[in-house]
Amino acid sequence: MNCFCSFTSGSKGNSAIYIKDNTRILIDAGTNTKYITSCLKELGLTAKDLTHIVLTHAHRDHISALPVLLKHTDARLVCSEGTYQQLPVRVDEPILFWEGESLTLGDVEVKTAPTPHDCFGSCCYSFGEGEGSLAYCTDLGKVTPEIFELMRRCRNLFIESNHDVEMLRNGPYPYYLKQRVLSNSGHLSNKDCANIVSRLAIEGVEKVMLGHLSETNNLPRLAIGESYQALGRMGADSDVLLGAAAARQMQAPMELR
Ligand SMILES: [Zn+2]
Ligand SMILES: [Zn+2]
Repeated sequence: MNCFCSFTSGSKGNSAIYIKDNTRILIDAGTNTKYITSCLKELGLTAKDLTHIVLTHAHRDHISALPVLLKHTDARLVCSEGTYQQLPVRVDEPILFWEGESLTLGDVEVKTAPTPHDCFGSCCYSFGEGEGSLAYCTDLGKVTPEIFELMRRCRNLFIESNHDVEMLRNGPYPYYLKQRVLSNSGHLSNKDCANIVSRLAIEGVEKVMLGHLSETNNLPRLAIGESYQALGRMGADSDVLLGAAAARQMQAPMELR
């Protein structure tokens, strides 16, 4: 079995799972343990079946379930040195790395890349190589050459498409927060994301799930529409399967090939 499933995605919580045979990697642990275990149950799993918990960064929406979740699992915690420094928990034998290092987790080759997001130690990941590979890239701010290189090698992609710039500009956020989101250390807009997705279509990406959509400053149809149009301009709109992950809604598992 080789699949990816988003449990929840957005500023209120992020958590997903990458499964390859007996390696079951939880990616981020936002929301709470009750919700995450209910999603695992839908897949016929319990927290005890997790082999690893991988963290992108230490913002609350990515780690809030961690203190309780760790009491229910023997999974190894995997994160950057910088992220670990900021966690509210300590564990036995964490797997720590510097952003940019490669790792082997169970049967899965994992690559990491630093992200410019405004959280010390923030990084993104790719899982596997060639068939069944997935890049998980959220809370980016902007896509650096290292992040693009990591994505380019994967057939499947989970990528941040956080906001529609006009909705954000005209929306209710205070000025400082608008500036933060728009900055290169904030979040990727639908347009930024669409530009990357269309470039990756040339590199052979097959399935793309858009994530971390703002519930205030975005709509799934705007995010998907922007990427779909960008793919169309490259003549690749029928080559890539596009979807969007929702907040507090478990997606159907994405079969990875
Ligand atoms: Zn986030
Ligand atoms: Zn963040």
